[in-house]
Amino acid sequence: MLLSVCEIYPTIQGEGFLIGSPITLVRFQGCNIYCSWCDTKYAIPFRENLQIPLEEVLKKLSSIGREHILITGGEPFAHPVLGDFAEILIKEGYFVQIETNGTLWQSKFESLPRERFYISLSPKYSVDYKIDPKFSRFADELKMVVDKNLTLEVLLRKEFLPLVEQKKLILQPEGNREENVQRALELIDELLKRGYYARIIPQMHKLINLP
Ligand code: SF4
Repeated sequence: MLLSVCEIYPTIQGEGFLIGSPITLVRFQGCNIYCSWCDTKYAIPFRENLQIPLEEVLKKLSSIGREHILITGGEPFAHPVLGDFAEILIKEGYFVQIETNGTLWQSKFESLPRERFYISLSPKYSVDYKIDPKFSRFADELKMVVDKNLTLEVLLRKEFLPLVEQKKLILQPEGNREENVQRALELIDELLKRGYYARIIPQMHKLINLP
């Protein structure tokens, strides 16, 4: 198996419900969409010449020695090997977290042990927050970047509602900016009034200068 991976390094999860967890980050190179505000633009283009053998990746993960692997990108689901890679990691004893824009699904995940992988779904404005319907069932958290584009109507779309009702909604103010924090507070008020619940969680790694 060959993996188009551009970075592997130990760090701390800076976003979402698993914030603060020591992780090894594995970044896939290549994304199927384009967001103008993307903070990892170098990982957007697919690079056919970037092919790392699985054995090399496993060796590196083992030498770092952290159980929690964060697979991010780019877009991990845009890489057909993702499901098989996740399965191998789980068999090796790792806990696998995947960050995704939610536009693509792989059925392999429907047969993997549910307690050993975790999906952080972060739909994007650049594709009108469209997701594959499977994520309504499989996402462990719904992380919405709050900026002027995010509305209550989007949050209450039918594909997000099951996740909102399970209290999996996280509002992440874009760039930790004050106006976006304010917007997030307003959205929380609107959600609470309607009987829903959400949390505001900022990007912690940017506050404490971690990669
Ligand atoms: S989906 Fe993620 S990696 Fe792809 S362009 Fe948007 S922010 Fe960047």
